Amino acid sequence: MAISFSGSAKAEVCRIFPQRQCCALAECFGILLYCNSFTADSIKIITESREFAQLLPKLFKKAFNLTFDLFPSLEAPGKLVFQIVDEEKIAAIMESCGFSREDTLALHVNYPLVEEECCKAAFLRGAFLAGGSVTDPEKGYHMEISTTHSAVARETYLLMHDSMNISPKTASRGGGQVLYIKQSELISDYLTYLGAPVAAMGIMEARLEKELNNKVNRRCNCDDANISKVVEAAQEQLAAIRVLKEAGLLDKMPAKILQAAKAREAHPASSLSELAEMMDPPITKPAMNHRLKKLVEAAKEVRS
Ligand SMILES: [Zn+2]
Repeated sequence: MAISFSGSAKAEVCRIFPQRQCCALAECFGILLYCNSFTADSIKIITESREFAQLLPKLFKKAFNLTFDLFPSLEAPGKLVFQIVDEEKIAAIMESCGFSREDTLALHVNYPLVEEECCKAAFLRGAFLAGGSVTDPEKGYHMEISTTHSAVARETYLLMHDSMNISPKTASRGGGQVLYIKQSELISDYLTYLGAPVAAMGIMEARLEKELNNKVNRRCNCDDANISKVVEAAQEQLAAIRVLKEAGLLDKMPAKILQAAKAREAHPASSLSELAEMMDPPITKPAMNHRLKKLVEAAKEVRS
């Protein structure tokens, strides 16, 4: 069976193992609040991701120093079910998450557990692994996480807003609460934030391709060679932007370069002259070219 886009994004996120205790706890917290069931009687996590299934026992060991009561063979086909039913283990987990047994009907995001920036990202990674999915960008742009706890959805919304400046949409579905994003750039930012830059790039590339196809269709006498040159240059610039973002250097670039980068990111298929006109104040095409070259050069330095 081919791995879905969602599956490979999760596999990418799973390559990150939290080094700090605070992050291990925050990631498990995200998993618990977004998993299939987290009550005083039982914890149940169901996943199709082999990578997540491998990560899960290690995470729980690090965060709570305990093991699952029921866990699947990783060779088993289909969905994998992890369970904890031992009352003492559940009580210990509840306590580590800042809940008492009586709280379990109204679980919520304990902000002290996700106060640090590192822990916010870890929490959202856990939420995505346990209760999230992202649609193959060839089919459409959609990313969501869903929880059965309504307070949790509201609080996660605030968390995403604070840490990423993203305001997801909300919906109720089957008794649960869903937070979702439909804009390709935001999905891409979100995946990058979670530690899945390859999946993030996949979203942007799919979008670039779509926009270019539209462009080609609009212009009847287009010059194929020219278009593919534009595509190559744009792809190189987008890749450079990703590299600089990942290295935390993009925001440190000179304001003019940053403005150029933002424009390219928001308009992957625009020509140099179109981008040049978007600058504030507008600049010439060679000046735009110069700015984008600087970006690509800076990314090359990061890579070397
Ligand atoms: Zn942390």
